[in-house]
Amino acid sequence: MIIKPRVRGFVCVTAHPEGCAAHVHEWINHVKAAGPIKNGPRKVLVIGASTGYGLASRIAAAFGSKAATLGIFFERPSEEGRPATPGWYNSIAFTQAARAAGLYARNLNGDAFSGEIKQQALDAIRTDLGQVDLVVYSLASPRRTHPKTGAVHKSVLKPVGAPYTNKTVDTDKGIVSDVTIEPATEAEFTDTVAVMGGEDWEMWMNALSEGKLLAPGAQSVAYSYIGPDVTWPIYKNGTIGLAKNDLERAGKNIDSLLKLNGGGRAFISVNKALVTQASSAIPIVPLYISILYKVMKAAGTHEGCIEQIQRLFATHMYNGRTPKFDEAGRVRIDDWEMRPEIQDAVRDIWPRITTENLAAETDIAGYRTEFLKLFGFDLPGVNYEADTEPHRPML
Ligand code: NAD
Repeated sequence: MIIKPRVRGFVCVTAHPEGCAAHVHEWINHVKAAGPIKNGPRKVLVIGASTGYGLASRIAAAFGSKAATLGIFFERPSEEGRPATPGWYNSIAFTQAARAAGLYARNLNGDAFSGEIKQQALDAIRTDLGQVDLVVYSLASPRRTHPKTGAVHKSVLKPVGAPYTNKTVDTDKGIVSDVTIEPATEAEFTDTVAVMGGEDWEMWMNALSEGKLLAPGAQSVAYSYIGPDVTWPIYKNGTIGLAKNDLERAGKNIDSLLKLNGGGRAFISVNKALVTQASSAIPIVPLYISILYKVMKAAGTHEGCIEQIQRLFATHMYNGRTPKFDEAGRVRIDDWEMRPEIQDAVRDIWPRITTENLAAETDIAGYRTEFLKLFGFDLPGVNYEADTEPHRPML
């Protein structure tokens, strides 16, 4: 089958197996080139391991410090004549490369919110690894079936309290327009906290602790975003931001749990805004990212997921370092994004963006390339005219 991108709004409904593998290899090569991470993680559980920041965490752990990794993700498998979602192919490519390098890599595809997947993960750790010394929590999900109540919670990306109007871009068509987003209802807000808040992270860590599956001194990290005021009504002060506050609340509880377990720690790392499947679904944010990329590339400080997480591991968590926390106890690898000169430049460009000057004033071209790369398209060295087999078994 010849697989071409089929973009529908903010998703691409196809993915390319060789292209996804090439993307994974780009990230592996970045980590190898950055050099070994000393005293790095040895046995790692990554929840949300197949794309974005979670995949970057898995690659940084495996190829930066030879870690054994258990990856949990929720991807649509391939079928005869139908491609899988990209995380499926990413995980196959990662696993092949890890095993070729002599590293343990095991995958569980299923709902991380469920009791069943948690149990399978605990069993796999007990049997294969004994204990883990790092747990990365990197889920981004539109819904959660609560394991105790059976209720289905759906997350929304909306402001809280009042409607919000600002510019947005249709990244596919390149049209800039004003968008007004109505505020979330009380139920939508509670549901978003149930999906993207910290309860599930706590459930994972309590289950691992009760199973005695956390090595002494084990660490756990979950990812968040803050960003500049132009995105606050839709992010930091919106439903997702309130869910992230709950993630921070959970992080403090987990930190206390891990401190008692041989002096470990849990914390939130605030990461940079990047093109991922999760962020492309948020109104306004893709326009911000397109401007940010332009400004940070010009400043020579642009990073992608793999650069971010390699830096998190190498300069905060391992290599004999300890995390530098902000006043709220968070690690800030969004520090380069939030530099005043970067944000001043974004603020300067933002009001003048129109459909006509979008290409010149922003890095919409870079945004589109990054977006297509998420699905395995537009990668150098891949022959997209060649026949490829979409149906690939998970390893
Ligand atoms: P992503 O969409 O690339 O990855 C999400 C991962 O979660 C995938 O591996 C997916 O398979 C998995 N997943 C989703 N639902 C699942 C379920 N029910 N069970 C098991 N696995 C499931 O997202 P991302 O952008 O890398 O986001 C990861 C984290 O990083 C999120 O907490 C997000 O808020 C945070 N973050 C993202 C950005 C950004 O700009 N993208 C910035 C800062 C922080």
